Amino acid sequence: MFCPNCKKEILLIMEYKNIELDFCSNCLGIWLDAEELQWILEAEFDEHTIFTKSNAKETKKKCPRCRTNMNKFSLFQDETILCDTCPNNHGFWFDRGELEILIQTLPKFSGTHSFLHWLTDVFQYPHEK
Ligand SMILES: [Zn+2]
Ligand SMILES: [Zn+2]
Repeated sequence: MFCPNCKKEILLIMEYKNIELDFCSNCLGIWLDAEELQWILEAEFDEHTIFTKSNAKETKKKCPRCRTNMNKFSLFQDETILCDTCPNNHGFWFDRGELEILIQTLPKFSGTHSFLHWLTDVFQYPHEK
């Protein structure tokens, strides 16, 4: 799979608790297949309730699985954070740091703390914004 951002960069696979996460070592974006977020956080929720369709004019990215143009979604109607989701339900693309913001915005689930820790370690996201 190619990075939807850098296009020619191949996504690498990292394992987190037996879940395979695809990420780009160049831009540090992360691809999550549908439902992976729930496995990671050990939670059950409808992923689509988090996202609101956005009309932002950001360039469309292509789904790394099916190459369809993805839709822009904002997190909890906050237009400053836009992520991309595949219209064919393959999953979600998060630019660097966006996944962390999402997880911090969600209610806390049992897997939240350890995953945030892991993300910070691996990607060296700043702890504080
Ligand atoms: Zn990239
Ligand atoms: Zn797709």
